[in-house]
Order: sequence, then C-alpha cells, then structure tokens
Amino acid sequence: MLALRAPRLFDGRDLHRDRVVLVENGRVTAVTFGDPPEGAAVVELGADVTLLPGLIDCHVHLAFDASPDVLGGLERPGLAERMREAARRDLAAGVTTVRDLGDRGYLALELGMGLDGPEILAAGPPITTPRGHCWFLGGEAAGEREVRAAVRERAARGAHVVKMMVTGGEMTPGSRSHLLQYGPAELRAAAGEAHAHGLPITGHAHCAAGIAAALDAGFDSIEHCSFFTEDFYELDHALIQRLAASGVVASLTAGVAPGAPPPPPRIQARLSAALEGLSVMYAAGVRFVIGTDAGVGPPKPHGVLPYGAEMLVGAGYAPVDVLRAITSVAAETCHVDGRKGMIAPGHDADLLVVAGDPLDDITALCRPLAVYRMGRPVSGEGS
Ligand SMILES: [Zn+2]
Repeated sequence: MLALRAPRLFDGRDLHRDRVVLVENGRVTAVTFGDPPEGAAVVELGADVTLLPGLIDCHVHLAFDASPDVLGGLERPGLAERMREAARRDLAAGVTTVRDLGDRGYLALELGMGLDGPEILAAGPPITTPRGHCWFLGGEAAGEREVRAAVRERAARGAHVVKMMVTGGEMTPGSRSHLLQYGPAELRAAAGEAHAHGLPITGHAHCAAGIAAALDAGFDSIEHCSFFTEDFYELDHALIQRLAASGVVASLTAGVAPGAPPPPPRIQARLSAALEGLSVMYAAGVRFVIGTDAGVGPPKPHGVLPYGAEMLVGAGYAPVDVLRAITSVAAETCHVDGRKGMIAPGHDADLLVVAGDPLDDITALCRPLAVYRMGRPVSGEGS
C-alpha cells in the first residue's frame, strides 16, 4: 500500500488541507489525515505542493504532429509510434486521460500503450460529409442511413465517443467554418444512434447555427463553440443563454505553448473576439471543459492543457472552476466519472503533483513534480 501525504489536496471538486491518499492495486482506497496505516510505503510529497487528480484533455489529435504540415505528417511512415510519443508527452504534463477526437483508421484505439501513456478515449475518424471538414481522416457519411451506419461502426469498434463535424472547419481546404455541413435529420439520427449504443456524441461547431443545430439534435457537448461569421466573429447572446440553460458542455479550445508561433491569420484576427466570447460564456454559466485540439498546428503541441487552464483564468474564469473543468467535469463529459477526475475511494490512482497552489496561481499546473498512472510513478520526460 502506498500512502501519499500532501499539505494540499484538490480532489476534483474542492481543496482540502493535510491529507493522506492511500493507494492499492492502482486505485485510491481512502483519503484520510493523520498517521498513515502501519506497513504503508509513505511518500512525503513536499511542504508546498498540491496533489490533484490527473488532468483530462477532452479534445486532442494524437495523429496530428503539430507541425506546419499536419496532413503531410499523416502520410509519413511510423504514424502509430509518433502517436505514442504524443501520448507520452501528455502523460508527462500530467494529462492522464485524453479524448482523441479524430484519428485515421481507428489508430488511437489500437496504440496499446497500457500505463506508458494516458488512458485514451477515442472517437475514431470524425463523421463528416463527403469532402467535408477532415474528410481525409476517412469518416465521410451522407444522409441518415449512412450516418447511422457510421455511428454503429464506431460502436462496434469500441469507440468511446462519437465525433461529428456539424460545421466546416479551418484546416480543410474548401471547408467553411461558418456553414452547416448536415441537416437536422442527420444530426438527430447520429445523436439517437450514439445514445442507443450508450455513447456520448460531441459536435464540432464553429458558428452560431452549428451550436444551435447541435443543441436541437441532442448532442452532449460542443467542440470549439465559436461564433465565426464569414468575415469575423459575432456572439449570439440569446444562444449562449440557451446553451447555459441546456447544461450541454462547451469544450473550449484553449491552450497554446509558451513562445508558440501565432495561429493562422484567419484565427489570429478573431482571437480577441474569441476571448471575449469565453468571458461571456463563463458569465452566463455555460458548463465547460477544455479541449486543447493538441496537434492541430505549431501553436498546439501535445501536453499543452495546463496552458489552456492559464488562458481561461486570464479570461476571467475562477481557478477552482477551471480545475473542476479539467478533472471532475471532464470525467463526467467523457463518461468516465466514478473512475477518473476525482481523488476518492474506488477511483483510479491517476494523480498529479504540482509545486505551489494552483487555486492561487494556476501556472502551478505548468510545473508538474510527479505524475502517477494507476498508482505507478511516471518516469522520464515523455519526449
Ligand atoms: Zn480537433
């Protein structure tokens, strides 16, 4: 039995002082205080550290290499090994669970890393229209019948989530972020089929019409949740109120590496408007998680989630809400609550130790001192 003693413990919801976390067979068995039980191997984590649940990034692409030529990278030999390396980077940064929202050939489901990487929850190729956003990942489907078949295929292959491109996107030539790709019948069919198989469904939506369509169709979460127009960015306040009231989760695209190159000009021009949008959504009480979209381009290498937390706090979010978003709320969104996202009896001992107090200074997340995966310390730099 392992006994981890910490002066501060954020359990996924709240902060507690002077706690001892007992771990056996990879799981947390108790959270106590005082003297650890006799025979336990005691680890004093330090005088000024915080113990947290391992973090959860709700939107990554292990198959994307964050290079200037992400699509070219898909074609180079050794893709699976590069995906494992990307996953190890996440783990080293304290991200013990990732949700991969778009790979090719279901590779993210088959990496077989065990405890050498984070737990990988994967969508397989996102469902998209013929030649629609990210069609090159292999998930093209048109019409209700094909969409239902695509969802069933993912369920049969063991996918953990269904990802659907409700609107166009930025990285696909010819695709338009401010336009819908699917009609209401196809979206409803996908959501109904996903739910019939017990899977959550998340929709990529970059414009107000896309957000509204995903809400109408009964999606569980909305990726990006941005308000692109053809030329710029325009918040829809009534829609934000509706989103907040729905309880549907906004998976906010936050997090860039320090010193990273700027995003593409179309995104750069909209950045301050998008930041204002984040503040408005928070003030409205929208339920949220963070999905970094790691891998999608040079500003977003793998393992960038702590910087996403920093970005939201910079946009006015309370640190405690951000910490909940990347632990317990993310676990609920990914349907792994009860197992991930909390330090509590019965949960996997996926743990992160950081220097300082992230409730006081969120950048503490960027200084991981130790990471545990199922109770086992993660060694090496992960790169
Ligand atoms: Zn993405």
